Amino acid sequence: MDLQKKIEGYLGKAVNGASNEEVYYALLKLVKEMCKDKEPNKGSKKIYYISAEFLIGKLLSNNLINLGIFDDVKKCLEENGKDLTEIEEVEPEPSLGNGGLGRLAACFMDSIATLGLNGAGIGLNYHFGLFQQIFENNKQKEVKNPWIEKESWLVDTGIHFPVQFKDFTLDSTLYDIDVPGYESGLNKLHLFDIDTLDESIVGDGISFDKSQIAKNLTLFLYPDDSDKAGELLRIYQQYFMVSNGAQLILKEMDENGYDVKKLYEHAVIQINDTHPSMVIPELIRLLQERGIDFDEAADIVSKTCAYTNHTILAEALEKWPVSYLEEVVPQLMPIIRKLDEKIKAKYNDGRVAIIDNENRVHMAHMDIHYGFSVNGVAALHTDILKESELKAFYDIYPEKFNNKTNGITFRRWLMHCNTELAGYITELIGDGWKKDAGELENLLQYKDDTTVLKRMLEIKDNNKKQLKKYLKDTQNIDIPEDSIFDIQVKRLHEYKRQQLNALYLIYKYKEIKSGKLPETPITMIFGAKAAPAYILAKDIIHLILCLQQVIENDPQVNPYLKVVMVENYNVTKAAKLIPACDISEQISLASKEASGTGNMKFMLNGAVTLGTMDGANVEINDLVGSENIYIFGKSSDEVINLYNTNGYSSRKIYEEDSLVKELVDFIISPELILAGDPGNLGRLFKEIVNKDWFMTLLDIKEYIAVKDKMMGDYSDRMGWAKKMLVNTAKAGFFSSDRTIAEYNNDIWKL
Ligand SMILES: *Cc1c(COP(=O)(O)O)cnc(C)c1O
Repeated sequence: MDLQKKIEGYLGKAVNGASNEEVYYALLKLVKEMCKDKEPNKGSKKIYYISAEFLIGKLLSNNLINLGIFDDVKKCLEENGKDLTEIEEVEPEPSLGNGGLGRLAACFMDSIATLGLNGAGIGLNYHFGLFQQIFENNKQKEVKNPWIEKESWLVDTGIHFPVQFKDFTLDSTLYDIDVPGYESGLNKLHLFDIDTLDESIVGDGISFDKSQIAKNLTLFLYPDDSDKAGELLRIYQQYFMVSNGAQLILKEMDENGYDVKKLYEHAVIQINDTHPSMVIPELIRLLQERGIDFDEAADIVSKTCAYTNHTILAEALEKWPVSYLEEVVPQLMPIIRKLDEKIKAKYNDGRVAIIDNENRVHMAHMDIHYGFSVNGVAALHTDILKESELKAFYDIYPEKFNNKTNGITFRRWLMHCNTELAGYITELIGDGWKKDAGELENLLQYKDDTTVLKRMLEIKDNNKKQLKKYLKDTQNIDIPEDSIFDIQVKRLHEYKRQQLNALYLIYKYKEIKSGKLPETPITMIFGAKAAPAYILAKDIIHLILCLQQVIENDPQVNPYLKVVMVENYNVTKAAKLIPACDISEQISLASKEASGTGNMKFMLNGAVTLGTMDGANVEINDLVGSENIYIFGKSSDEVINLYNTNGYSSRKIYEEDSLVKELVDFIISPELILAGDPGNLGRLFKEIVNKDWFMTLLDIKEYIAVKDKMMGDYSDRMGWAKKMLVNTAKAGFFSSDRTIAEYNNDIWKL
């Protein structure tokens, strides 16, 4: 194919005479046309991955890579004076997810298609996504994040389904996004929407009338659910998603001439966390409408559905009051009651009931009883589910429980985001790793080769320079490229302990003030969105932004220490930050981070992990060995024991340890109060001293010691480069192709 001619055909003019916008839209059309011609993945059984979130990121470059024309397009554009990186800037990022869970679903879409599996994603088409984060007066402000333009990746399928709520019916429209596999067939991501949406009801920030369902249903992902109207809206969204999904699945069964009584032979539904759990009673209802009796319908559905658990944080395991479900989807309640009665007749154990004594429906319990598989997302997480969190269920159904350690797609998280490193790896070991990530281990033969190690350092430096330029262009912030880049980017949550990192920052600031200078200057980079109603998380953002300002304005400190809070952390920014990172901060309180996937992206790109023995960090540690990772902190067993015995008191540590006291007191010091809001800082201070539910102070001394050791080791450049190389070489296990192959072998069996 003559690429230039093709692109110019869509452009209606010469490439070199077109704007970046025009070229972007021409490439969008080119990719969509190529997807139309691509063979869909086929098979007699299909995986439907239902998820409230798909954090897919920008699609242009990834689609070009997967279609095998990335290099040709890049070259063609260069020959015409165009830069693909600049053209990518034109594309808006769909913000259809919060963080790790949504990004996982996106990586899985890529791998399912790449492995040639017959599959589809099912979700919702939120017009304003999550929210866009902006900083004002050192605080987070939320505004809407519109991403759908007249020309976009969405394709109107013309498919509609009626979805019945208590007092009204909403008709859906299905939009598809093509998911081309890497040098493989095509799958679809199905996003349901309503035609009656009214974007104009959004007022200041992200506020809108939560009661006008026909106008607001697909405006935002998880709008503020701190009040009842917000919670009801979530139930409306969830039911809309699963009812459409269930109707689509049955429609495809009919079209293929399959008997719905054999649903489980042709379909498997992976329920991604509890948001889609109502698909179980909804499918039972639809099968009953087709004349199948309740018990048989429940049996068919149980053989079709599998559940993935993503968290052991109690607050995230959804429990909906029966009265709310009655208010939104009364047609499901008789079914849920019957499902619950069957369980109560069999097991006289309140811990496994679907409807509890307070008349709340435990969505996860329904999934476990009426699905055939329950999986955790990292080895440690699955062990904790079996041994404590879901022990009562594990005792009943040991055969249902299995582990599927998360993964990431190397197409996006290496081939696209770090072209230079990807190219060098291919130079060294060939390009087999692109299809078989295990081949990255062949890099190990170079671990003492100084030429290779020097080149690894050079690539890291180049990525740092690119990030420096990006931060200058986008946030007008200068960072020293020859400093250590220490990065913590992820959702803001107390359990992830950004506050621990902030306390280190205070420690370093004070050290430098007292004349103790670091061997190498340090740049600490943060990026995180906080849930709009999560007050304490927003206070932590405020603390970091205030520290950024205080340190920036202190000429005694700023040559050695720099703080950057990146605004609106998202997939696009992740792809710029991760390749430039030296130290990957994975410092959650042990037992609380189910897996993490950010840790995997950093490792793959040659960052060294500073982390606790939590989530997939445990597996990273096993793979790279203790000389190539920095571990600190109490173990998950110790932490769980502290919770069980009420054995942790932050006040005690604060009062007994003078260094800890000094660091925590700085939160309400005059310097900081001058930069910030005494109300917010005071609240955070009190919380840490009096409660500290996620045990920041438990690990702080060890964290400081290990991090300082790490900063010192950085000076041995060859020693450090070797750690980088080993991390990249051992990352193959974390390819989502491996994860998906396991899902298919153990659960889906396509
Ligand atoms: C990978 C990713 C995450 C998940 O990061 P964790 O460190 O695993 O929490 C969140 N947000 C974005 C944009 C990501 O790309």
